[in-house]
Amino acid sequence: MRILVVEDEENLAESLRQGLSADGHRVEVAHDGHRGLELARTGGPYDAVVLDLMLPGLDGHEICTRMRAHGDPTPVLMLTARDGERDEADGLDAGADDYLTKPFSFVVLGARLRALARRAAAPEPTVLRVGDLVLDPQDRRCRRGTRDIELTTRELGVLACLMERPGRAVAKQDILDEVWDAPHAIDPNIVEVYVSSLRRKIDAPFGRRSILTVHGTGYRMAPDGG
Ligand code: CA
Repeated sequence: MRILVVEDEENLAESLRQGLSADGHRVEVAHDGHRGLELARTGGPYDAVVLDLMLPGLDGHEICTRMRAHGDPTPVLMLTARDGERDEADGLDAGADDYLTKPFSFVVLGARLRALARRAAAPEPTVLRVGDLVLDPQDRRCRRGTRDIELTTRELGVLACLMERPGRAVAKQDILDEVWDAPHAIDPNIVEVYVSSLRRKIDAPFGRRSILTVHGTGYRMAPDGG
């Protein structure tokens, strides 16, 4: 894969370059936000971008937002030294597809990058419809009625899990197993972050409630689409 790494900590950037190169990837490194955005726009196409959140110049959040505003769908894995749901939600709002907190295991990073690339290359082919909610995982398109809704890769995976089983309770762990590449390493409660962000996109603006909480289990897609 061709990977862009945007990371200002030089030791970490260098070990990422060496490690990913040793895994057979072609790696380019930027040490500040402006250079990172420039490479993302003109140096690609890349198969994935590893993007540090805290950067001099433009931060990772801003870079990701600008890439998405330009219609750049390259999978983005955000790195952050901070830990907490709020930070992850920020990254996801900016259009990042995945998120890793420093310090991280190189093995996990490699697996997540492969998973992102795989999902970007070979999404599920079926168009899902529940009520007026339509999800085409192949084209990465979601709409309610006639209105298009932008979703990240991960949001799309979580929503597809629920829309494939309308009216049925789906456990958080099952969502994790289906959508995440190394689910044993992740707290199932992370699913809540994605469900919150989905509700803000597919329900709240339309005054609807399609993703229902099943206490003690997980979630259920309203059979009529909310
Ligand atoms: Ca940094």
